[in-house]
Order: sequence, then C-alpha cells, then structure tokens
Amino acid sequence: MKHEFPVTLTTNPGTKPESKGLRFGTVFTDHMFVMEYNEEKGWHDGRIVPYGPIELDPAACCLHYGQEMFEGLKAYKTADGRVQLFRPYMNAKRTNRTNDRLCIPEIDEDLFVDAIKALVKVEQDWIPSGEGTSLYIRPFIFATEPFLGVRRATEYKFMIILSPVGPYFVNGLQPTKMYVEDVYTRAAKGGTGEAKCAGNYGGSLKAQEIAHEKGFEQILWLDAKEHKYIEEIGSANAFFVIGDEVVTSPLNGSILPGITRDSIIALCKEKGIKVSERQISIDDLEAAYRNGELKEMFASGTAAIVSPVGELLYKGEKMVINNNEIGPVAQEMYNTIYGIQTGKIEDFMNWTVPVE
Ligand SMILES: *Cc1c(COP(=O)(O)O)cnc(C)c1O
Repeated sequence: MKHEFPVTLTTNPGTKPESKGLRFGTVFTDHMFVMEYNEEKGWHDGRIVPYGPIELDPAACCLHYGQEMFEGLKAYKTADGRVQLFRPYMNAKRTNRTNDRLCIPEIDEDLFVDAIKALVKVEQDWIPSGEGTSLYIRPFIFATEPFLGVRRATEYKFMIILSPVGPYFVNGLQPTKMYVEDVYTRAAKGGTGEAKCAGNYGGSLKAQEIAHEKGFEQILWLDAKEHKYIEEIGSANAFFVIGDEVVTSPLNGSILPGITRDSIIALCKEKGIKVSERQISIDDLEAAYRNGELKEMFASGTAAIVSPVGELLYKGEKMVINNNEIGPVAQEMYNTIYGIQTGKIEDFMNWTVPVE
C-alpha cells in the first residue's frame, strides 16, 4: 500500500451479527474512514476512527444544494481466509467521473483504494461467511463548506463505512416483480444519470413508492424524452436474453455505468455468449415476449450481483418471464461472479484485489 493511515480503535466494540438472517445495510462495523479536503491542503488527514455521528455545520452546502456522491463495492473472505475486493479500481475511476460531473475535487485512485483496504483490514472479522453474504463498502463524499449560494464548495469530507450484508433481496435469487414506469423519469440526457449521486435517488422515491403500493419491488425506467427506450432499474442495470442474444442498453449518458454490468458483458464475451449493448424499446421487448423470444430478464448490481425478473407490468399488461423462474444465463452469471468474489472459482478474469 502506498498510503498509511492512523487508527484510533474503539473502546466499545459492537456485537457481530449472525450470518443467518442478515439483511442489507442495517448493521455497521466499529470503525470508519474519514478524510478532509480544502483548497490549501487538498485531500488530507485520512484516518480510521470509531464509527459514530459526525458534526456538520447547518449551512454545510451538501444539505442545501446536494453536492454529494457515493460508491458501493464489497469485500469477501475466501474459504482459506484471504480477504479480497472485487474490481475496486473501477469504483475509483467511476468516483472521479462522478466527481467531475458534480464539481467535487478529484481523488487519487490509489488513495481511494488504499483507504478501503486499510479500513477493511481493521474490520476483517466483520466479514460474514454464510452463503450470499459479504461486507458492503460505502465510500461517499459531501461538501461541508458552510455557505448559502450556488457554486462549487471549497471544503469536503470523504468517508467510508462498512456493513456486513446478506442477500440484497430477502428471497435471494427468487424472481422479482417489476413495474415499467411511464410517467416519472430517473434521468435525462445531459443530466446526472451517469453519475452516482444522492440526488438521482431522492428524485426517484416517489415513483418507487407508487410501484411498491401496486405490489412491485422495482421500477424499470424508460428514457426521459419519449418514454420508449429501456434505460435501467432502480439501482441496477437491466439485461435481457432475447433469442440467443444477451442485450443491455448502451451507456448513453443517462445510464449508470455499472461495474457488474461491465463484468457480465466481459464474461459473456469470454464464454462465447452473444452479447450486445444496443437500444431496445419497450415495444420491441413486448413483441419479443409475444413471439416467445424473451427468455430472461435480470437486474445487475453490486448489492445483489444478479436478480432475475419474473414479472413485468407495462400499461396494465403483465409479462411473465421464464415461468417466473431464474434462467440459465442469470444463474451462470451469478455463480461465476460470486464464485470469483469468494475464491470458489479461480479468478480467470483477474478481477480480485487482495487486502493484505
Ligand atoms: C450503483 C448503481 C448501479 C449498479 O452499479 P454496480 O457498479 O454494478 O453496483 C446501477 N444503477 C444505478 C442507478 C446505480 O446507482
């Protein structure tokens, strides 16, 4: 590691939860990483301290104008006790693309990854070992400068917190029900859809609540202009198997470039499965469903890796996909990625990074 950070250990360690029954994002570990930015020193004073509340000036501009970004990745423990991260430099690169879009200062990629490694090393006993479990890592940056006014802030905090997690969906790889949203939109061309920032989520809650009330777990978002082309799913990218082709929407500026998405595309190519990044309209999808060509649909993201979709509702019409069961492509992608992450499968893609 290029960077080292001072560690203040907690005097009041928490109780590690049982692997069984772990939910997503409800339990946090004993320590967190904190680092500040100002114009004079740049990013400085990175340190690991006991987990706890932080003090923030009420005028801190993240609270008023939303200058905030976040990331998400995971650490895993292999059967022989090694601790590893999955493609953390992809998160570092995406952080800087998000930062650039939100006028947050750039952060050195090695500094970003070394901070994660240092914190995970301190907390490695918190990595759960049950099937489908892992340690979720949440890096985030927010503007702390106290002022009212719309401009780039001059002071920021970068923090990392960790949460031992179970499968993202309580029912594991059980197919979910999805609602095709044709009133609200998530992101428009030229907006912040390809940046990982809190604002994108705040604006999506309303549509999500309406979908939940109707009995659907997730939303399939369409493009903002025509409500015609498929974009992505709540907090995940969307994949379809149409005939013998795996299809996902191209990164057109309003879609979040998922690292799981990238991994699935790479794995398909490696395994000789036909895969295309191409625009697909909801009408084409419906047509493929009607003529029996729509074999599978699944969501991809760090939290669940792969989550099959069993039912899709569009303008009152229900499509039942693959008999409401997980399909072979989704299953193979999950098995391969989770296998590589946990060391059960040899890392033939060179994706894991050890925490030493
Ligand atoms: C984080 C996120 C994804 C998935 O990205 P991964 O890197 O695969 O976890 C997809 N869509 C949105 C909106 C996201 O915020």
